[in-house]
Amino acid sequence: MSLTKTENTYCGRFAPSPTGPLHFGSLVAAVGSFLSARSRGGQWLVRIEDLDAPRQVPGAADRILRTLEAFGMAWDDPVMYQSTRKEAYEAALQRLRSQGAVYACGCTRREIADSSIGGPVAAIYPGTCRRGLAPGRLPRALRVRVDGPAVAFEDRVQGRLSHFLGSESGDFVVRRADGLFAYQLAVVVDDGEQGITEVVRGADLLDSTPRQIHLQRLLGLPTPQYLHLPVAVDARGEKLSKQTRAAPLGSARPVPLLAGALAFLGQRPPAELAGAEVDEFWRWAVAHWRAGRIPRVRALAAP
Ligand code: GLU
Repeated sequence: MSLTKTENTYCGRFAPSPTGPLHFGSLVAAVGSFLSARSRGGQWLVRIEDLDAPRQVPGAADRILRTLEAFGMAWDDPVMYQSTRKEAYEAALQRLRSQGAVYACGCTRREIADSSIGGPVAAIYPGTCRRGLAPGRLPRALRVRVDGPAVAFEDRVQGRLSHFLGSESGDFVVRRADGLFAYQLAVVVDDGEQGITEVVRGADLLDSTPRQIHLQRLLGLPTPQYLHLPVAVDARGEKLSKQTRAAPLGSARPVPLLAGALAFLGQRPPAELAGAEVDEFWRWAVAHWRAGRIPRVRALAAP
């Protein structure tokens, strides 16, 4: 019996930032999330994370969408653009304010760097403005308080993780000093709005997940399942990105690139699949997708 939309509630997403064209690293995230959804007959949504205007490249969002189309990755529902969602983020912030969960922080980057405790991810905010701004201080960013026990979750690839927000992340920014909503807030509000049941993305975002779960709890949103894929790194161990000049994907011959992404994810596409048409590639990939074969590591060398 085939599942109807109401019976099958799986909903996944791919959420690229339009800072440049897709490259092998972002293709891996697109392919992993697409196959997680399609192999279960679920929905797959695309969200363009275009909140940070200064970091964006004009035309990059359209180029990403055209590449997904050329690669045979059709999405459900209209694309969501974070740049159109400011009211929703403001409403979430109001909700946090009404619980006393956020406070204004007047510290500059320099002051935080000078006084913070080094953490595994970045400098940990020492809580200077937690009990109110010192006289004469102007509010800059808004931070959310982190208190309480460790946040634990089971990642389908990376296993069980447990994280003390207080000592490992610290009170974190939900609205930046430049007035922009922070990624952590936007992603949680949007995953909630889009009804995402499983977040499949690169393991470079694993350390953000406990902060996102904390916000979901404060905002009364469900926590999705998580599956963090190994991140593709170059010969120096650096994540492929625009900064490391990862080569943009050409659209002329998508299937060999798709087969490369599939093999990177531990699947075993037969050699002749590289010569297949896009539709045939996806038929094979959807039928043979096994999440259990994804390498249980945070990073892997790109082919
Ligand atoms: N926009 C983020 C990126 O391109 C991904 C966010 C997410 O998947 O949660 O790295």
